[in-house]
Amino acid sequence: MLPRTAEVVIIGGGAVGVSTAYHLAALGAKDVVLLEKDALGEGSTGRCAGGARLEFSTAINIQFSQLAFAKLARFAEEVGVDPGFRRIGYLMLATSDLALAQLQRNRPLYAQFQLPVEYLTPEEVRYRWPYIHTEDVRGATYCACDGYLGPHEVVQGYAQAARRLGVRIYQQTPVIDVLVAHGRVQGVRTPQGDIAAPVVLNAAGPYAAVVGRMVGLEIPVKPIRRQVFISGPVPGLPDETPQIIDLGAGTTYRREGEGYMLYGPQDREPSFNTTVDWEATVWACERAAHRLPALAQARIVRGWAGLYEISPDNHAILGPAPGVEGFFLANGFSGHGFMHSPATGQVVAELILYGQARTLDVSPLRLERFAQGTLLHETLTMHT
Ligand SMILES: Cc1cc2nc3c(=O)[nH]c(=O)nc-3n(C[C@H](O)[C@H](O)[C@H](O)COP(=O)(O)OP(=O)(O)OC[C@H]3O[C@@H](n4cnc5c(N)ncnc54)[C@H](O)[C@@H]3O)c2cc1C
Repeated sequence: MLPRTAEVVIIGGGAVGVSTAYHLAALGAKDVVLLEKDALGEGSTGRCAGGARLEFSTAINIQFSQLAFAKLARFAEEVGVDPGFRRIGYLMLATSDLALAQLQRNRPLYAQFQLPVEYLTPEEVRYRWPYIHTEDVRGATYCACDGYLGPHEVVQGYAQAARRLGVRIYQQTPVIDVLVAHGRVQGVRTPQGDIAAPVVLNAAGPYAAVVGRMVGLEIPVKPIRRQVFISGPVPGLPDETPQIIDLGAGTTYRREGEGYMLYGPQDREPSFNTTVDWEATVWACERAAHRLPALAQARIVRGWAGLYEISPDNHAILGPAPGVEGFFLANGFSGHGFMHSPATGQVVAELILYGQARTLDVSPLRLERFAQGTLLHETLTMHT
């Protein structure tokens, strides 16, 4: 039976929704309800690669990563689940003058935030990782403390901890409308009934714009399909290799068990299509075999497709929605929402409870930036 009232209703049970639910309760919110239309973590979060990195091209994204990394270091103790963070390092390869200039441009920012990023020549890359094809590489960065962790562990960890603190979570419960009167949120409608609430959070991932339209708001988030493939065993490569980001090719590779994880192409047009197009393995394998010749022999054994939630400047859209009091946004993470979710939950909970985020200044991420023309521009992304 759904409750009839709540202090806060969260729409969406991905990493962002459950992290915010946990942080709200941890900060003292008494009556938080999370509604998920499918099952927890089955959206973008459950289809992501789990990558986590410090390197970004804007201060705000680096600050989100640093806060998230600090929170992940205490995750097991605080939340009670080991998130399985494997620090294999991120190696970003630039194969064009443009990409190299992009990496170089970030140097002062990395120094400002004291990121342990090494700048490497092609010769240095070849010496350290001789199995990588480097003839077309112009330069690289390497950050040893980056890596990947478990989306399932993070979602279930936050969900369990949130429940222990009194959060009520309902799966298979879609929000079909957000109720608004006199410019103020009144609650949400579901097929099982309405819940009256003064605060509603849109944490609907790639469905952010759909939920935004329920209150008459245009949220510029596009769902874009991206595919991931896993190969069978790959002989000739060490057991542990870094996460290799091929900036020019717009793709990435890393060890996954005995095999390798390769990205397929991303769609040009937005859609909610999450079927796997096996033809896309050709794109993935050609690029992989070029960068890691040992992968030329690899066979693809499985794959899946997920949805990026792309905003126009590749930054999250966070904060109160203009014109609809009580409606909050945590959307548009543009392919890095999982790694930032521990930080997002903290700052969004603060925004809701205190009227402003205390841990980080997230005001540059408000929706109004698109109308005001104060976009941020993240250039270091995996998507093309
Ligand atoms: C192939 C791929 C690889 C990626 N790799 C990485 C990576 O390495 N690192 C990284 O940080 N990020 C990565 N991402 C991005 C990452 O997956 C997202 O940024 C992140 O998962 C967003 O979390 P979320 O909670 O906002 O969205 P989601 O996980 O999609 O959660 C939103 C939830 O809202 C629910 N929902 C929607 N509408 C409603 C409604 N009306 N009522 C109730 N529930 C609703 C959905 O069912 C869904 O469960 C990747 C994405 C893809 C597609």
